[in-house]
Amino acid sequence: MKWVGQALMAAFFVVGVGANCFGAIVWTRGHGDIGVEFKNSSLGLHFHLEDLSPGNFLGGIPSSAEAEPGDLIVGVPSARQTTRASGTAWNFTGATASAPFWILPNGDEGNHPFVGFAAETGEIGLGWTNFRFSVAAMSGPGQFSMWTGGSGGGDPVVRVSADRSINEFSINAGAHNHLNMGFTAEGMYAVTLQVLGTRTDNSTFSASDTFSFAVGDNAINIASVPEPSSILLLGITGISGFGLAWLRRKRLNVSKP
Ligand SMILES: [Zn+2]
Repeated sequence: MKWVGQALMAAFFVVGVGANCFGAIVWTRGHGDIGVEFKNSSLGLHFHLEDLSPGNFLGGIPSSAEAEPGDLIVGVPSARQTTRASGTAWNFTGATASAPFWILPNGDEGNHPFVGFAAETGEIGLGWTNFRFSVAAMSGPGQFSMWTGGSGGGDPVVRVSADRSINEFSINAGAHNHLNMGFTAEGMYAVTLQVLGTRTDNSTFSASDTFSFAVGDNAINIASVPEPSSILLLGITGISGFGLAWLRRKRLNVSKP
């Protein structure tokens, strides 16, 4: 019955990374942005989803185009798996050359959530200069990084390196931009983003929130299972060896203080 415990641990982990119940909604396709908002004199972060078509989500559909960070897990489908490019310019990813690597690209290729960052005037009002984003914390089975460029053989422009020695990108007030995001292993990631907004009078406001990513189809499927009993059933019916390995890793993660 050991796997029952593992499955339960996986379920607890899914809850722990921000889903509000067993069976999280996982975003797998369509355009949306992580946006800043300014409400009641407080800066915040949220998802702004441009397309709530049922085919864009697993485990349910968000009730509103504006979703809280804990309401949704960003899926990185297995179709996004590639290998890390050669060249030391890619060392910032934390992956070795030719190692498996999962990329959420900055252009919409149709088989992934097209995730950007936005500081729309309708959400923040007027009187802002820019918003500086950084990664305040990250946990997961691998490394997380962000960059622009790098397609077609060019060198990437690093925005967030896996070791966070480089860790900032900026969105101007009223602007919207997309960056590449990289992951070095399958599984669940929790990425805490911090944003510092500067107003035209040089006053600043900050906010942070944690965004969850399910990398690989196995992680997506486990995260979007609707009932605890289904998670157990998933164990009973013998998810793949990889799935059990995933559960074991989650168990180890959970048991850390
Ligand atoms: Zn966008």
